[in-house]
Amino acid sequence: MSETILAAEPTIRLATFLGILVAMALWEVAAPRRRREIPRVIRWTNNIALVVLDTVILRLSFPILAVGLATMAEERGWGLFNNIDAPVWLAIVASMLLLDLAIYLQHVMFHAVPGLWRMHRMHHADLDFDATTGLRFHPVEILISMGIKLAVVAALGPPAVAVLLFEVILNATALFNHANIDLPRPVDRWLRLFVVTPDMHRVHHSVDPRETNSNYGFNLPWWDRLLGTYVAQPAKGHEGMQIGIEQFRTRRDLWIDRMLIQPLRGPASGHALDPRGTTRDSTE
Ligand SMILES: [Zn+2]
Ligand SMILES: [Zn+2]
Repeated sequence: MSETILAAEPTIRLATFLGILVAMALWEVAAPRRRREIPRVIRWTNNIALVVLDTVILRLSFPILAVGLATMAEERGWGLFNNIDAPVWLAIVASMLLLDLAIYLQHVMFHAVPGLWRMHRMHHADLDFDATTGLRFHPVEILISMGIKLAVVAALGPPAVAVLLFEVILNATALFNHANIDLPRPVDRWLRLFVVTPDMHRVHHSVDPRETNSNYGFNLPWWDRLLGTYVAQPAKGHEGMQIGIEQFRTRRDLWIDRMLIQPLRGPASGHALDPRGTTRDSTE
């Protein structure tokens, strides 16, 4: 079973990724939520180049990734679920929930710790919000995230299929909840009871720090509601709100070379624990 999963993993991942990306791009053309500020060619080429670079760096940096480690843990009896007698379906569901909670908490941490915010704010510095924004993460953030995920997998000992499902679903929901698509309001209200919708996650990309530091969920919306970080709508409305952060607002900042050096530039203002509660430099 585990060997079949490992053999099919690259195909499942690539097919889902490309399929959902194309579907979202078409949906964005058919029913856009907001007018684009930046020509697609600048953002798309650079955001997609970044995800290719991230993938290469990740593969070269880790000898084993999350699904591989879960397989190894199954064989060697590591982690919680490999040491208790839980039914497989329960182990799968509980593992996926706990992995999602771990990703939520990690996202909060990336907003709260200034040095980590320097890395993660690059995701927020995109000046438009569409499916390719969901691909835009600094390679160092990708490496730290994988390190955390491997630690969670080692401790939890989840079934390998749960890890694969979780990663494929997370990849698909990240493309969906960053998409510039206009879901009918009643559909959005119903859907966001179960999954993070584009209108819910767009609040997280608002330039207003109170909104940036909210709605941390990528997959399930429940953690935000349970733990008090949920903001239903942006104060200025979805069409009136400004996307991005206060720093890095030029088109040149959207190029991949500038994205890569963003963690080193300027103050780390605007993080969740910033006492000024604003992204503006104190000299202003
Ligand atoms: Zn964030
Ligand atoms: Zn985002």
